[in-house]
Amino acid sequence: VADGTERDAVVEGLVMTVRFEVADDAWAVLEGNLARPRGLERCNNDRDPHRFVRSLHRVWGQRWRIPPPTRGSAVDGGRAGVGSHGQLQGLGYHWELWNIAMGGMAPYDALRVATIIGADALGLAKAKGARFVIASTSEVYGDPLEHPQKETYWGNVNPVGPRGVYDEAKRFAEAITMAYHRYHGLDTKIVRIFNTYGPRMRLHDGRAVPAFMSQALRNEDVTVFGDGSQTRSFTYVSDLVAGILALMHSRVNDPVNIGNPREMTIKEIAETIISMTGSRSKLVYRPLPTDDPKQRRPDISLARRVLKWEPTVPLEEGLKRTIAYFRTTL
Ligand code: UDP
Repeated sequence: VADGTERDAVVEGLVMTVRFEVADDAWAVLEGNLARPRGLERCNNDRDPHRFVRSLHRVWGQRWRIPPPTRGSAVDGGRAGVGSHGQLQGLGYHWELWNIAMGGMAPYDALRVATIIGADALGLAKAKGARFVIASTSEVYGDPLEHPQKETYWGNVNPVGPRGVYDEAKRFAEAITMAYHRYHGLDTKIVRIFNTYGPRMRLHDGRAVPAFMSQALRNEDVTVFGDGSQTRSFTYVSDLVAGILALMHSRVNDPVNIGNPREMTIKEIAETIISMTGSRSKLVYRPLPTDDPKQRRPDISLARRVLKWEPTVPLEEGLKRTIAYFRTTL
């Protein structure tokens, strides 16, 4: 693409992984950045992994007449299933952004999606020589004991806790992606996405920002889990998309944190949202979910150095745009 060549791209599951409607942004950015991206497809898989599988099959099956992935192809898509069919020519990019969010699906489905679909998607990318981008997450760091989190930190994850399926699915995804890179020479990218927010988030997806905004705009109690002293670092969606694209165009194959290093407590962000919406809402405290990470802040020195990327949208500006969006949807 740097040389202006035309490439096809498959965009999968983007929506769910970041838990809001970032796909349209990515779509627009892709269209702006890629020279006429022929065959750009999107699977908007929503929360249901079964629907995800069906939509994946539909896109592959109809557009390129590639049969659905099979268990036989899960280990090596180049040998069976998707990889043995040559219709998908010139696939330049494979954005594999798996639908393994926790909300609204049976927990084991997260792992099922990561293992079966992930391996198939890597097989397809291998068969077509496509660049492969996997949306990973700061969740791979678990409840981190190192702060801020550098890419070299291995994390502190409870594999059998309620977040385990999501965390381990993502860690599995990173492992298999690196394995394809090492053993098959696939040009793979791993982006570790920190908490992200922006317009088109789903109002009721349970995330802090949409929850606080919908509560504040309706003058309802704002529900802070625990004592609100846990910290997060929130990235505005356009910064995230710019970071992913920078990574995609880079030569980097190791995982890269993309996030905004500005860290704040959950209580602070709740209060900020109440004040910015001019709401009469009060804070109420609810039990802290099990294994809820106490702190989270990306060390983005690697992204700064190798991608020349850093976030540009200040929190207040991003919140302003997001509140404006929610005002129109409530
Ligand atoms: N949170 C909260 N109230 C809510 C939703 C979330 O206090 O209504 C807290 C949650 O416990 C966590 C933080 O906000 O500490 C961020 O939660 P979110 O689900 O947005 O992201 P994640 O936990 O994956 O970082």
